[in-house]
Amino acid sequence: MQFSGSAIPEKWQPAYEAHLRALEGKVAVVAAWLLLVTVLIYQFSHPLRNSHSSDLVGIEFLLRLPVILTASMTLITHYTGNSRWPNRYFLRLMGLSVMAMILSMLLLYLQNKSAGLYQISNGLVISFFGVSVLAVRGIREWALLFLPLLVLFTGAATALNISFGDVLPLFFDPLMMMVIGMIVMEAFRRVLTSEFRARQKIAEMAGTDELTGLLNRRAISPLLNHELQHAQRTGKPFSLVLGDLDLFKKVNDTFGHDAGDLVLQETARRLKGALRRQDALCRWGGEEMLILLPDTDDQGAMAVAEKLRASMADSHIPAGNNRIHQTISLGVASFRKGDVIDAVIGRADEALYRAKHKGRNRVEVARPSEPEPFVSA
Ligand code: GH3
Ligand code: MG
Ligand code: MG
Repeated sequence: MQFSGSAIPEKWQPAYEAHLRALEGKVAVVAAWLLLVTVLIYQFSHPLRNSHSSDLVGIEFLLRLPVILTASMTLITHYTGNSRWPNRYFLRLMGLSVMAMILSMLLLYLQNKSAGLYQISNGLVISFFGVSVLAVRGIREWALLFLPLLVLFTGAATALNISFGDVLPLFFDPLMMMVIGMIVMEAFRRVLTSEFRARQKIAEMAGTDELTGLLNRRAISPLLNHELQHAQRTGKPFSLVLGDLDLFKKVNDTFGHDAGDLVLQETARRLKGALRRQDALCRWGGEEMLILLPDTDDQGAMAVAEKLRASMADSHIPAGNNRIHQTISLGVASFRKGDVIDAVIGRADEALYRAKHKGRNRVEVARPSEPEPFVSA
C-alpha cells in the first residue's frame, strides 16, 4: 500500500500540497462536528444506560473535556477563518485527545470493576476507527496519532498492575477497525489523488495556473518566442518584468498557508487590473510573476512596473481577521538586438535581485552595462 504523495510529479507538489491541505480542512470540520456531537451524547447517555456513580460521571467528563475543547477550537478557527495553523495540526490534536480520552477511560474502567467493560470496548472500536480516518496523509500521521499514547497506556497499565491477559483481548476488535479505517482512508485518498491529477493535467493543457488562474510557465513560452521573433524582425522593443513577493515566507509562517494562497490570488487580481489587455501575466514560480509587455521600451516598462508595485503596496489585503500588507519587488529588462529570451529573463532577474538588495518594495531596471548573464541555450 502506498502511503505517500510520491507518485505526484515534482512540479505538481506545491499544488498537491494545497490540495491535501484543503482535504484536511474538510476532514477536520466534519470530524470536529462528529466528535462534539458523539462525545456529548455519550456523556449524557452513559449514566442512563449504566448505573454509574456520580464520581465516575464527573471523571469521565474531565476525560472528555480535551476532545470537546479541541473540536470546538477547530470549529471556531475554521468558521472565523482565523487559523494560523495548518489543519493537519487540528487533526492531530483531535486524534490525540480522542486516544487519550478512550485509553484513560479504559484504565478507569479496568480499575473500577463495577463499570461495564463492554461499553468501553465499543468505545475503543469506534475511536480506533475514527482516529485512523484522521490520518489523511497516511502512515506517518497514523503512527503519530496511535503509537505515543499506546506506549503511554502500556506504561500506565504496568504501573497500575493491570494484567495484560485482561487487556489484550479488548484490543482485538479495535485494532481490526483501525486497519479497516486506514484502508478506507487510503482508498478515499487515492480517488481524490487521481481526481487531482486529472484536473491538473487539464489545467496544464489549458495553460492556466490552478491557484491564481494566471497563465502558467508553459503557456507563456510560445508568447515569449513570438514576441522575440517579432522584435528581431521589426526591431520594435518588448519588455519583461519579473516580480517577486517580498518576504512572502513570513506571510505563510505568520498567517498560515491558506492566507498565503489568498494573498497570491489577490496579487494576481491586482496585477492583472494594472495591465493592458495585450500584456501577458504569468505565474512564473511559487510567488514570482513574469509579465510580458509587447511594444514597450524600458522607460514604458518602468512606468508599468511602478504601477504594479503601487497596486500591491497601496492597500492591505484582508484575510480573515487579518489585514496583510504585501509588497512586491520588480526587475525590468527590455529586448536588445541579438537577445535570446533567456538573456532578457536573466537581466530582469538580475534587476529584481538588485531591487531586493536595495530594500524591496521597489523597481529596478537592467542597466545598459549589465553584463550578459551566462546563457546555456
Ligand atoms: P524575498 O523577499 O527575498 O523574496 O523573501 P521570500 O520570503 O518571499 O522568499 P522565499 O523564496 O524564501 O520564499 C518564498 C515562499 O513562497 C516560500 C514558499 O513556501 C512560498 N510559496 C511558494 N508557492 C506558494 C503557494 O502556492 N502558496 C503559498 N501559500 N506559498 C507559496
Ligand atoms: Mg521567490
Ligand atoms: Mg519572495
